[in-house]
Amino acid sequence: MKPYAGLRELTQGLRSKAFSTVELTQFYLDRIHRLNERLNCFITVDDEAALERAKLADQRLSQTDVPRLCGIPIAHKDLFCTKGLRTTCASRTLASFVAPYDATVVRQTSAAGANMLGKTNMDEFAMGSSNETSYFGPVSNPWDATRSPGGSSGGSAAAVAAGLVPFATGTDTGGSIRQPAGLCGVTGLKPTYGRVSRFGMIAFASSLDQGGPVAHSVEDAYELLRAMEGYDPADSTSANVEPTALPATHENLVIGYPEALFDGLDAEFSSAIDAARGRFEALGHSIKTIELPHVDAAIAAYYVLSGAEASTNLARYDGVRYGHRSGDQNDLADMYRSSRSEGFGLEVKRRILTGTYSLSVGYFDAYYLKAQKVRRLVRDGFLAAFADVDLILAPVAPTPAFELGSLKADPVQMYRQDIYTIPVSLAGLPGLSMPCGFVDGLPIGMQLIGKHFEEGKVLAAGMAYQQETNWHEQHPALGDESVA
Ligand code: GLN
Repeated sequence: MKPYAGLRELTQGLRSKAFSTVELTQFYLDRIHRLNERLNCFITVDDEAALERAKLADQRLSQTDVPRLCGIPIAHKDLFCTKGLRTTCASRTLASFVAPYDATVVRQTSAAGANMLGKTNMDEFAMGSSNETSYFGPVSNPWDATRSPGGSSGGSAAAVAAGLVPFATGTDTGGSIRQPAGLCGVTGLKPTYGRVSRFGMIAFASSLDQGGPVAHSVEDAYELLRAMEGYDPADSTSANVEPTALPATHENLVIGYPEALFDGLDAEFSSAIDAARGRFEALGHSIKTIELPHVDAAIAAYYVLSGAEASTNLARYDGVRYGHRSGDQNDLADMYRSSRSEGFGLEVKRRILTGTYSLSVGYFDAYYLKAQKVRRLVRDGFLAAFADVDLILAPVAPTPAFELGSLKADPVQMYRQDIYTIPVSLAGLPGLSMPCGFVDGLPIGMQLIGKHFEEGKVLAAGMAYQQETNWHEQHPALGDESVA
């Protein structure tokens, strides 16, 4: 069996009975157990239940009406609630929390037949760009264990990159699917805000949070998106739109090239993106230089807004009904204080403090309201650019995978990891991250941004690119190539 097989190959293998679901599941579970100690991609592995479900999938495969993803192993980021299996959000406060229901994304992917092997590591409450804020320890990048896989969906991206699962779910608030996908050399999509239900997805910044797929290819990301998306009355911001569909025929598109965004990149980085540009032209698309005003204010606005939303969302972790409760208390206020002090890590506390500050009387107008105005300007800038172009090409992250620990002491440097992804999040647009080259032996990614709900166009352009290139077919050397 091949750890990096794509969905098409796995589905064919299962349906032609070249291997059974039980064999496939056991194969990936063995691989997880062999490599997870080194990579720390998984917080929880659900061996027994996964094998039980695999047996049922084998039965279903012999019947009619086989669900599309029947028997395909999947991992969920550990902030999607899973009934009966703990959901930690990589926080001490939820370390033993077991949700009484499944997130819509979990319910829908299971209904499509995917078999959950476990829950992936992440930054605590999805706050971070390196996976180092996890209560369960950092994840290592499969390309170089001393480096970060990015964050916050670093466990999902690293698990796919290391061939521990064929695909995984992630979430993206300011870059958390796209940046780790870029740093691990895999494909990830942040859908348009509203396309994927947030029900049962533990909230960080509700006006930005969006679930999406992480996979080996655009084709597989699309397949997973189809299982994740859809209108959900249980999420008040869920959009009632047509499901994502690929255009029936090849379209020659105009791709916007925001020149200023590429200025700060290293030469090797820029030449990889230039080569990708050339590929798009060869595919019949034309490139048009564009401007994106106000994107330089996006990070500042994002940290005001996401912090404000986080401070209110995280107020619910008071140690009363669920979550960590401190044993050290004299009265009620003391219990809240010590439970929260012990339950949350440093970065989460930083966000709660700054978020509470910007919402307080006297500062609200100066910070929160102003940031909302900047958000509107960023969005308007994109919409104006999209009057002339169909897609926008941008970098994903400013550097390849960085050394674990190297940015930890400087939050502002860490926040800059999302300089190219945050503007897209503020505008609520879909962004696809896919590998486009290597710098110093480490994968780098690029981003294709589309208009609201035009994932179909973005994905089609990405698929055509991957048909012409093989960056997405490169895999890290993990010392066990005998099985590959
Ligand atoms: N790195 C950004 C942050 O720390 C984005 C995280 C995310 O998208 N969840 O907020």
